[in-house]
Amino acid sequence: MSTSKKLFGTNGIRGLVNVELTPDAVVKIGLAIGTFFGKKNILLGYDARTSGPMLAKAITSGITATGCNVYFTEMVPTPSLQFAVKNHKMDGGIIITASHNPAEYNGIKVIWNDGIEISHEQEVEIEKIYFDNKINFAPWDKLGEIKELTDINSEYIVAIKTHVDIEEIAKKQFHIVVDAANSVGGLTAPSLIRELGCKVTSINANIDGTFSSREPEPRPESLGDLAATVKAIGADIGVAFDGDADRSIFVDENGEIYMGDKTFAVILKYFLLKNKDAKVVTPVSSSTLIKDIADTYEGKIEWTKVGSVTVSQKMKEINAQLGGEENGGVFYGPHQAVRDGAMTTALLLEIMAKTDKKLSELVAEQPQYFIEKSKINCPNEKKTVLQEKIYQQVKNENLSTIDGVKIWFNDKSAILIRASGTEPVYRLYAEAKNKEKALKLVEEYQSKLKELLQTI
Ligand code: MG
Repeated sequence: MSTSKKLFGTNGIRGLVNVELTPDAVVKIGLAIGTFFGKKNILLGYDARTSGPMLAKAITSGITATGCNVYFTEMVPTPSLQFAVKNHKMDGGIIITASHNPAEYNGIKVIWNDGIEISHEQEVEIEKIYFDNKINFAPWDKLGEIKELTDINSEYIVAIKTHVDIEEIAKKQFHIVVDAANSVGGLTAPSLIRELGCKVTSINANIDGTFSSREPEPRPESLGDLAATVKAIGADIGVAFDGDADRSIFVDENGEIYMGDKTFAVILKYFLLKNKDAKVVTPVSSSTLIKDIADTYEGKIEWTKVGSVTVSQKMKEINAQLGGEENGGVFYGPHQAVRDGAMTTALLLEIMAKTDKKLSELVAEQPQYFIEKSKINCPNEKKTVLQEKIYQQVKNENLSTIDGVKIWFNDKSAILIRASGTEPVYRLYAEAKNKEKALKLVEEYQSKLKELLQTI
């Protein structure tokens, strides 16, 4: 959490419970956030983590001490809280969640009045208040109040339903398996899917903040139970959410698990068929598949740095209505310009219904790419120099330096070389039209990086 005067990482504040995120630290974070907003109404919720209620109370104490009112809501998915902030005209929101991190972590995402995470500039303002102790304590008779706002999950479900063709979906009588990782996705997605006229089978549905069934990161390695269940009961698709249900990873009727790029590409295609020339926001870490689809169906891609907050902020800035990430985050602007696992599920069901195609067919008709990943160890203090050295070697290629170095080659292969924001490593993501080429690319650049690193 706290490396050299920073609280916020790429996606909110994260830390180990009672090591970095202690109650006293969180009271002070609440004081800083309350001072930042200044005597306003803040909606507060948390995910299934065992530390959620404790940290929610600590942050409430800090926020109300600055004169802001806190509206306590139930256990909620992040996108449900984000929608409620906008829907109830709150001045801001806070969700206590560490998203996909393991159970011993927790975190704090701060939401602006439009439902989108605050910008990185606003995060810096909060950090300044925190580290410079510029807290505005309210006088004893002007403390904020603690109120309640319940039932936001059902309002959220109603809102999602307005964005899809319920009749068309219901006609198909789809059967969907939902794997909510024992967390908040199970509080909304199964009800939503049932209200769309589908049959739902849930696994890992009980709330358990220790995430006893699988890790909250929906990786293919941890979704074996979901894939097997879909196949065993002959369901049409399976969906797995991360810990706070803003990301969704899908499994087709054969039990095949798809990375987020593939399902985002399906949604992108049908979005562009209805919205020619639309702007689409995606980080440079996304597959060339996204670029291919945008080129074919006349969309305009706006590349960003990696990170969902950056994607949301860019969508807001250029008024784009669709964004997506390779990790299963889809941002559907007509609903809200933030990642939303339940909204993504509804969109995919609508596409399956309207095209009368199975998920495997929708994915198979896309251009196919093979992805290879790797990493090298690199001390944090050498990262910037290494980036400059690699750039000097490849600067004449077709590339983007918006985040790391991404090179697109003429044969539609590509590589992204990027320093990790959280670990002392450089990551390499290569893709190509065949596996051998992708592997060759990743190996070639891995040895290049190692050689360069030795010269630093
Ligand atoms: Mg998440």
